[in-house]
Amino acid sequence: MSQLPSPQPLAKRQFASDNYSGICPEAFEAIRQANHGHAPAYGEDEWTRKVCDLLREFFEKDCEVFFTINGTAANALAVATLCKPYHSIICHETSHLETDECGAPEFFSNGTKILVVGGQEGKPDLEAVERTVKRRSDIHYPKPRALSITQATELGTVYSTEEMGRVAELADRLDLTLHMDGARLGNALASLDVAPKEVTWKVGVEVVCLGGVKNGLEIGDAVVFFDRERAAEFDYRCKQAGQLCSKMRFIAAGWIGVLESGAWLRNARHANACAERLEKQLRTIPGLRIMFPRQANSVFVEMDPRVAAALAERGWIFYSFIGVGGARFMCSWDTTYEDVDALAGDIRALAERA
Ligand SMILES: *Cc1c(COP(=O)(O)O)cnc(C)c1O
Repeated sequence: MSQLPSPQPLAKRQFASDNYSGICPEAFEAIRQANHGHAPAYGEDEWTRKVCDLLREFFEKDCEVFFTINGTAANALAVATLCKPYHSIICHETSHLETDECGAPEFFSNGTKILVVGGQEGKPDLEAVERTVKRRSDIHYPKPRALSITQATELGTVYSTEEMGRVAELADRLDLTLHMDGARLGNALASLDVAPKEVTWKVGVEVVCLGGVKNGLEIGDAVVFFDRERAAEFDYRCKQAGQLCSKMRFIAAGWIGVLESGAWLRNARHANACAERLEKQLRTIPGLRIMFPRQANSVFVEMDPRVAAALAERGWIFYSFIGVGGARFMCSWDTTYEDVDALAGDIRALAERA
């Protein structure tokens, strides 16, 4: 009988993405505790009921909550709900919706068109949004219906409460529904140090796709509707799209674990602190350029391609295809200061040699 190779983790923790990390202890323990006996399937269990209540407390709002396997499904099904097939949704040109979902929003909405705009630091330029809406009003143009923003953005920047207010004011004036891709809302909240409601429903966000996986869960992001009527029949959409998990209690348990223990915010705060430490060190290395204000858990760096190549040769994995080029270093809940120092030390050694 052939011997199966025993699976091995990577030799070191990496900065490629926060989803390279494993499951945080708080989530793992909660999942373990949920793993006894039988429970009703498809979200009819007591864990799912409880986590929905916890999220209502978290947002301080009587919202409707659904769980999908991942963030792509959450975004795509949210768009499909907000828009009809002949509508369009406006978002930034670097948004996950546009660049990283393989057309899922268009597919699940049966044709809703994504209209992209530019803008500094991963945020749609508001004048460009207005131009995009007003450019045409004839029947041949896909009718703009929604605006999607990402908090924290794909470039690691964060909308302040005031900025959110300006975005929401514009959306309201142009009659656009406001969608938030909150795959890293935890990192944004940790950075802003405000209550979740201050940058969501209180400023007019109607739907948040709330990330858990990148922040320590194993599976399962949430779709949160602040206007309950918007959520009508969303459960059917989830089922049809293959997103209704039958053993839902384990998605719910992980969420309960991180919400009740405070790990959801603690994890995000820690990842942000690691990125802050990395940024500080990289700023002292000649020949590097930090590309965007570091406000969440990632640092984007422009560096000599030879340095980047040598860094990869030393076994570091990082992305250079996100946003507008440059190397992205993403910290996660389990990144350590030693990891950060090791990475920064290697970059320094290679940059000084180049
Ligand atoms: C990771 C991410 C998602 C979700 O991606 P999945 O791989 O589908 O879980 C959504 N939006 C943003 C901005 C992300 O970074």
